[in-house]
Amino acid sequence: MDQMLQKLEAREGRRRPGDRELHERAVELAERYLDGNRLPDSVRWVDNQNSRWGSCTPDTRTIRISRRVAGMPAWVVDYVLVHELAHLQIPHHGRDFWDLVRRYPKADRARGYLEGFSAGSRSECDHSEGEEELEADEVALEE
Ligand SMILES: [Zn+2]
Repeated sequence: MDQMLQKLEAREGRRRPGDRELHERAVELAERYLDGNRLPDSVRWVDNQNSRWGSCTPDTRTIRISRRVAGMPAWVVDYVLVHELAHLQIPHHGRDFWDLVRRYPKADRARGYLEGFSAGSRSECDHSEGEEELEADEVALEE
């Protein structure tokens, strides 16, 4: 019985995308929707990010996606990736940023999905370079 459970878990683990799949997906999306400009250097899942769906450090081209997103539909995961990828080019949430993000056709639908999830209590992302330092500003900006 235990053995069967282990086998099931192993299979489950294989089906869940790892960091490499996430990075490959990000590069694919950047090429399809963002002209392949500024490809990410590192894209990985993180567990310690409960109040953000994703974050991006443009200087090091590093993107982190909350593991909570992993259980969501693929088009929502793609949106979170496109959002962070767009920050590699535009590190704020200005109009030009959203023009870029909306090249992804389901951007607005995915934002609605995430809003429903967060019930207004979470920010969509943290794209600040100094992380904690800029967090308060960013929350103010998004409200
Ligand atoms: Zn953002």
